[in-house]
Amino acid sequence: MSELISKNLKELTEIIERREMSPDELYLRFYERIEDKDNKINSFITKIENLSFDEKGKFKGIPIAIKDNIITKGIKTTCASKFLENFIPPYDATAVERLKAAGFSIIGKTNLDEFAMGSSTENSAFFTTKNPWDLERVPGGSSGGSAAAVASLEVPVALGSDTGGSVRQPAAFCGVYGLKPTYGRISRYGLVAFASSLDQIGIFARNPYDISIILKIIAGEDKKDATSSDVEVEDYNNFYNISPSETKIAILKFPEESLSKEVKEAYNEFIRFFENNDFIMEEVEISSWEYGLYVYYIIASSEASANLARYDGIRYGKREEADNIKDLYFKSRSEGFGKEVKRRILLGTFSLSSGFYDEYYMKAVKVRNKIAFDIKTVFENFDFIILPTTPHIAFKIGEKIEDPISMYYSDYFTIPPSLGGFPAINLPFKVVESGVPVGFQVIANYFQEKKLLSLANFYENEIKFENKIIRRFRV
Ligand code: GLN
Repeated sequence: MSELISKNLKELTEIIERREMSPDELYLRFYERIEDKDNKINSFITKIENLSFDEKGKFKGIPIAIKDNIITKGIKTTCASKFLENFIPPYDATAVERLKAAGFSIIGKTNLDEFAMGSSTENSAFFTTKNPWDLERVPGGSSGGSAAAVASLEVPVALGSDTGGSVRQPAAFCGVYGLKPTYGRISRYGLVAFASSLDQIGIFARNPYDISIILKIIAGEDKKDATSSDVEVEDYNNFYNISPSETKIAILKFPEESLSKEVKEAYNEFIRFFENNDFIMEEVEISSWEYGLYVYYIIASSEASANLARYDGIRYGKREEADNIKDLYFKSRSEGFGKEVKRRILLGTFSLSSGFYDEYYMKAVKVRNKIAFDIKTVFENFDFIILPTTPHIAFKIGEKIEDPISMYYSDYFTIPPSLGGFPAINLPFKVVESGVPVGFQVIANYFQEKKLLSLANFYENEIKFENKIIRRFRV
């Protein structure tokens, strides 16, 4: 069993093609692995024992885990909220539909912070997922379940969603690759809306190749999502040959004190990796960067307050008994939503209210444009920007939950690329003294996913982090 669960998509497909194993057997092995490991890690809200797959697909029976804010036909989709605890959608998200057509089997739905609001999965209404490297620590969030499932060899690949860092941050905490593509690269149809101008489906895997396979399947225009892009989908797995002496990397300047000691030391080593490989490196300053966090919490909360208005106890989900309509709304929403979700709705409603709209929301929108412009300007002279993914390593469960502001700071490095809509990836780097991994981020220009994944592949060929994951979690 230890052999199969550590295989990548290419190897798993070959096993099926050569008929060394039937899709049923292969799927069952992964299901048993989840049964065996997940009572400790808690990656999954829903596990699906019965295999189903499209016979015509190339990836028959290969399991994939889906974050539980992505709609799956006939499979409970809860958003880790009491509101949607029993919601069974009648249709598939476009990304899910495309994965199924390629043969993939949905093996389960993974845990998250309620409606993807958070950085630790502690805001899940059901339970907290554990970091597989250290069960006392958080896996990151909001896509913590998907990141933990991939790290602990429960599944080879998983989908998450990233609004301000929710794929890259848990990928860093769990030591896996996590890609947030360009805004519009993957259809958002069936991704439950948090902040529509920022939300993007992202991909977790233990190597860049597996990410590139999934991206190719799910990327591309979708008539059901007007913000999906018609830019041509590439053969992302047909990597470019990276020539370091012709590749220019900008190193983002930021205040020294924003990194914890362990992350700072590792980051210096990470930069040296590129220097030693003869990449052309130069420091750049993006002065608007530091406003990203503030702008994000105004814009994301404003959009959330509008998007979450649909959960009223009438049309969807939980309905509390009441004598009149006003009480019904009030009781349903106050019972159905958790603390963090309510906090965002209040903040967003305030920012959008008349009298404050210009002062907060409109100003935030202007600063957002400035941040996007400033990042874009860097790409006139550089191929990539490198920077940390998170200011610190995975923190202890409970450590930050009473201090939302400190939790928000986890997103300092991931938010600006989201505000600008740029593609960005977490590269796992090393396991630090505390016993958990640290990862760093690379950003590329719009729709440069192929270039970004090619660089990630160059990196993985040298760093071989996947071997570390396999050695650690094989048994
Ligand atoms: N941690 C950020 C937040 O709570 C980002 C969440 C996300 O990307 N979904 O808003």
